[in-house]
Amino acid sequence: MLSHKCLLLCHGSRLPLLKGTFSTSSKACKSYKLVVVGGGAGGCATAAKFSSKLGKGNVAVIEPADVHYYQPMWTLVGGGMKTLENSGRPMSQVLPKKADWIKQRVVTFDPHNNKVMTEDGSEINYEFLVVALGLQLNYGQIKGLPEAFETPGVCSNYSPLYVTKTLEALNNFKEGNALFSFPNAPIKCPGAPQKIMYISDHYFRKHGKRDKANIIYFTSLPVIFAAKKYADALWEVVKERDITVNLRHNLIEVKPDTREAMFQNLDDPDNIKTLPYEMLHVAPPMSSPDPLRQCTLLTNETGFLDVNKNTLQHVTFPNVFGLGDCTSVPIPKTAAAVAGQFGIMHRNLSLVMAGSSPKHEYDGYTSCPLVTGYSTCIMAEFDMDFNPLETFPINQAKERRTMFHLKKDMMPSVYWYGMLKGLWEGPKNMRKVMHLGMSK
Ligand SMILES: Cc1cc2nc3c(=O)[nH]c(=O)nc-3n(C[C@H](O)[C@H](O)[C@H](O)COP(=O)(O)OP(=O)(O)OC[C@H]3O[C@@H](n4cnc5c(N)ncnc54)[C@H](O)[C@@H]3O)c2cc1C
Repeated sequence: MLSHKCLLLCHGSRLPLLKGTFSTSSKACKSYKLVVVGGGAGGCATAAKFSSKLGKGNVAVIEPADVHYYQPMWTLVGGGMKTLENSGRPMSQVLPKKADWIKQRVVTFDPHNNKVMTEDGSEINYEFLVVALGLQLNYGQIKGLPEAFETPGVCSNYSPLYVTKTLEALNNFKEGNALFSFPNAPIKCPGAPQKIMYISDHYFRKHGKRDKANIIYFTSLPVIFAAKKYADALWEVVKERDITVNLRHNLIEVKPDTREAMFQNLDDPDNIKTLPYEMLHVAPPMSSPDPLRQCTLLTNETGFLDVNKNTLQHVTFPNVFGLGDCTSVPIPKTAAAVAGQFGIMHRNLSLVMAGSSPKHEYDGYTSCPLVTGYSTCIMAEFDMDFNPLETFPINQAKERRTMFHLKKDMMPSVYWYGMLKGLWEGPKNMRKVMHLGMSK
């Protein structure tokens, strides 16, 4: 049925029904049982699971990037504990061999006709669609960026283009303000803007520069961290380390010529603070990617893929599912959350493919390893109501060396060899064992 439609659209006449690829002089037209848009954390796991289940020729991943990055490592790259190369692998190596990789950017969604269009003008038809597009970085929404990244001291762990500038800024720091920003928008890993601040504090102490540095955190949020248990612990950390925290302040402009940054008080918008900086770490405003935002049939009022927060099925189109940062699920956006969502999403999608209804429900599990220096970490794990949902039967709000090694040395392998192969669905089972069956 879909293939017929595809052939009609692309060739203008009905040709024999064949699965796979057709191309006219410039445009290709393809049909798949399942199309996965985005080959990042969620997309890669989904493609691995379903291509092994449905077999070759039935699953396609649309993904334009040559390199797949394990983004959680960028906090450590910024601090000089890993290199950018450590965090990336060729996309061709991580995408499953049984799925067709369409190396294109999706530009248009057409959910009424079960198809997406790519940058080269091709139409890709699907029976089922999984959207895992991640987030778009909007540095340009801050005046003076991205140009200021060309100048010393301005850095950002959020992009492979700028993450190596963080260590450079730390090395070159002499004296003055080290400023760290959190934008006025939902972002991935909301702990990351302050993790690099604690690493910087530790770096300055190790190199005898701490008494020359004013470390100041500007966050648009009214809290230091969403889950109270860990927020309380972080307030202790900032107090002990002599770090200044300004809540409800948003970075609006960077002036590289005078090396100044401007922050707006969100509760008193005429009140703008201008501060000189020696180092400025920027967490940019983010949004769901433009092609998704532009398809209002698929998105909610804030531009995110509108899914049922428990089943991860689209609220209007039952053959569309989503997972990860681009969805409307109201939890902090992390790879840990993607793992938890993946377990639920693939089961529900399998049910729908078999003609049933989704019955599995996501509990909102997310985790943020709050690295607080070169050897310690607070392992925040919580649910959709921001209540702790901890794996280990110890107080995880305490800074611990074990949790640091879990984050630095173990999680990358879990990601490359478990998650991307569709084998890791988060620590739920481990948590049950650790708590002798007495945890959710
Ligand atoms: C600095 C930093 C630190 C972090 N730390 C942690 C941490 O400690 N723990 C943790 O759990 N998480 C952490 N994260 C968050 C984690 O990396 C993300 O939440 C996770 O990668 C989201 O997965 P995703 O599949 O939704 O999106 P992504 O993994 O970002 O993948 C999205 C994919 O979609 C592709 N794409 C984009 N536009 C298009 C298009 N138009 N057409 C086709 N494909 C497209 C992209 O190329 C990309 O490959 C961190 C992130 C950063 C940046």
